[in-house]
Amino acid sequence: MRRIMINASLCDGCKNCSVACMQAHRTDKGTIYDLDLTNQENESRNHIVNDGKGGYKPIFCRHCDQPECVMSCMSGALYAIGAGQRSLMRLPAATRR
Ligand code: SF4
Ligand code: SF4
Repeated sequence: MRRIMINASLCDGCKNCSVACMQAHRTDKGTIYDLDLTNQENESRNHIVNDGKGGYKPIFCRHCDQPECVMSCMSGALYAIGAGQRSLMRLPAATRR
């Protein structure tokens, strides 16, 4: 089983992860380009909270074995580990801010 790890200091609040979760679990078929962000049935299962100090706090459910939220995070704030081994989803340090 994979685990989602969070480094909140790298989160820039882009919400790519929220949109990726919505697209992964939407009830109707379609692409990201016709995803209805106002449909409550498409609600994201993760949340990005403003910490009030200029940063963001990602809050995740850790439900999926292949989490689209993690794969959409370009900052390196999210990564997955599993079976005693780090996932390739984690970006190398040199590509992070
Ligand atoms: S683990 Fe799955 S359900 Fe949970 S926030 Fe990520 S994509 Fe959404
Ligand atoms: S966790 Fe990653 S994808 Fe989600 S808001 Fe933060 S930087 Fe963006």
